[in-house]
Amino acid sequence: MQQHIDTYDFTGKTAIVRVDFNVPLDENFNITDDTRIRAAMPTLKKVLAGGGALILMSHLGRPKKVDPKFSLKHIVNHVSECLGVPVQFADDCMKADAQAAALKPGEVLLLENLRFYAEEEGKPRGLADDATDEEKAAAKKAVKESQKEFVKKLASYADCYINDAFGTAHRAHASTALIAAYFPNDKMFGYLMEKEIAAIDNVLKNAKRPFTAIIGGSKVSSKLGVLKNLLDKVDNLIIGGGMGYTFIKAEGGKIGNSIHEDELMPDALEILKEAKDKGVNISLSVATVAGQAFDNDTPRQTVDIYNIPDGWEGMDASEASLENWKKIILESKTILWNGPVGVFELPNFAHGTEEIAKFVAEATQNGAYSLVGGGDSVAAVTKMGFADKVSYVSTGGGAMLEAIEGKDLPGIAAIRD
Ligand code: AMP
Repeated sequence: MQQHIDTYDFTGKTAIVRVDFNVPLDENFNITDDTRIRAAMPTLKKVLAGGGALILMSHLGRPKKVDPKFSLKHIVNHVSECLGVPVQFADDCMKADAQAAALKPGEVLLLENLRFYAEEEGKPRGLADDATDEEKAAAKKAVKESQKEFVKKLASYADCYINDAFGTAHRAHASTALIAAYFPNDKMFGYLMEKEIAAIDNVLKNAKRPFTAIIGGSKVSSKLGVLKNLLDKVDNLIIGGGMGYTFIKAEGGKIGNSIHEDELMPDALEILKEAKDKGVNISLSVATVAGQAFDNDTPRQTVDIYNIPDGWEGMDASEASLENWKKIILESKTILWNGPVGVFELPNFAHGTEEIAKFVAEATQNGAYSLVGGGDSVAAVTKMGFADKVSYVSTGGGAMLEAIEGKDLPGIAAIRD
């Protein structure tokens, strides 16, 4: 049975918590952005205040073997500062028995990077490039077998399991999903997970109308499932950024050198047709700020989206498009935003995305509910100082997208009964 962190009695218990401490480090191993560590604090402090001990587990980066560069020992001091108590470190996740058993209420043990072990992801490592299908199958079987022992060992350290790592909730890994089975009556979400799930429910299940989704980014292919699922939910679908050019070309427009996916054009037309059938208003760009090269200092001009001159590529939303989108956004009661409407990394082409951040913040001040997710969109609201002027900023871009696609996330399903 799923428990709730607010009502669970942690007295004298050890909680193993999957956190997302995958923070960026500089060359001297200083943390350059500790948002993810701070985001886990409410959950961790709750366990300690409730008389429990903590075992923390996370991944850091994408190491494919033990690599000191990716050791979680680099963050021990910072976690300790944030928690206000000393944090012990176990440099081998599989040999922490004694340390775990010795933990007293109020004490904290951080395990080494889970991804030092192939068993965390359950994928074979070190296979030769020319491995045969049989060898691949045998390696897969072997890692799945040893994964069972891995999960069992982690579970043996604790009395209860908390998943507070939304950023990896879409992965069916040992620490995010499989371990929950060892705690049938002692598993629960942490506060961060609770907030993320509530935010997604607010837009997908309880949206006040009009509901507008703003979907940008580079490719239709990476967000096709998202676009399709949203057609059953939204009143307005703003499609901006690189993915818009596939739609414009599919409609017969001239898009110059703009980014696009020819093979996705039938899907784009299908989405436009389905939107019409379902009464969803799709709003594409009407004009674009085009550049001559993918470069910040390239010459720029604003051109009709259906008539981009040869040699030019659409790189940012124009004022005319932004005017249309502003009106839609400000009239909305629920807003979901994922993906930039231009090449946000290049300052001269970041204006459109920054304006969207402004509109979403303004609509929120006027009473709309807004959920923002995905690297560039989050960076835009943060850069503009609007992170606390939108309703919720998701900490997991990939996980949020999969949830919006309508998929069951393994990290969430494993906690629910
Ligand atoms: P995604 O990860 O799918 O959200 O895509 C983000 C990327 O889309 C960013 O790196 C942007 O530079 C890129 N992008 C947005 N608009 C354009 C565009 N008009 N042309 C090329 N890339 C774009």
